[in-house]
Amino acid sequence: MKRTLALLLCAALLLCALACGKPQLDVGKPTVVCTIFPQYDFIRQIAGDRVNLVMLAKPGSEVHGFDPTMSEMSMILECDLFVYVGGETDRWAEDLLSKNGKDLNAVALVDLVETVDEELAPGMQGEQEEKPEADEHVWTSPVNAIRIVNGLTDALCALLPEEADAMRANADAYLKALETLDSDYHAVMDTAQRKTIVFAERFPFRYLCEELGLRYYAALPGCSSNEEVSLSTVSYLIERVRDEQLPVVFKIEFSDGRIAKTIADATGCEVLELHSCHNVSREDFDAGVTYLDLMRTNLESLKKAVN
Ligand SMILES: [Zn+2]
Repeated sequence: MKRTLALLLCAALLLCALACGKPQLDVGKPTVVCTIFPQYDFIRQIAGDRVNLVMLAKPGSEVHGFDPTMSEMSMILECDLFVYVGGETDRWAEDLLSKNGKDLNAVALVDLVETVDEELAPGMQGEQEEKPEADEHVWTSPVNAIRIVNGLTDALCALLPEEADAMRANADAYLKALETLDSDYHAVMDTAQRKTIVFAERFPFRYLCEELGLRYYAALPGCSSNEEVSLSTVSYLIERVRDEQLPVVFKIEFSDGRIAKTIADATGCEVLELHSCHNVSREDFDAGVTYLDLMRTNLESLKKAVN
């Protein structure tokens, strides 16, 4: 009888979860809510299934301009650890925390690293802000990913002290993989024939470029919406590809690569993708694709671009 009752209860909970669109949470575990993919993946690597892990951004969705629903907001306020990026795109999260989340356990990735301000590179479309914001794409450099993983490991161990040893062991193995990733990027740059890349749309890779000493030209700054790119910007990028005889022009994930193709048609270079890891497609998410996978693919594309 007890078993039937328990089964009925489970079924009711499942139906409610489906109806409310809320993820199913194991009540015996702390809940960690992440805004976007990088921290979701880092926490998955450190904590495994020791926590209920929720990513707010739907796989395949555009994360800039994310607007949480009421139920997502209440999930954040009720969770045990909230991990957001911080900066302009997460202004809503900072508003929510300042109004309601005084006691909420929250970590912003931008607080775990040294940030640089957003900048307008030569030829880039847009206006230089009087008070530039910190560039929020901190995870794009493996060195920063290491700092972030260290910070998140501390937060998770404080949340679940009885699992700290196991999680630190996971983190150590993962940090080793990130260190190898970083040295592999540097190894490619050490033998590179050129140190310039051209990016045909918005450019969230400043931290990676700074780390590798890569010069870049791009159409738009980091988090700008997919605004129309002017003819003069496209011409400027075509000139850069021609002048420096670059073999590759980059596009970003989830983009039709229209501008990159225009540049490629004009110059004969190849269009490749650099994945910013903001979010992954539904297919990649279901296949369990990781930050390391995406950054390894990026490394292969970068290798072609600098040789
Ligand atoms: Zn962004």
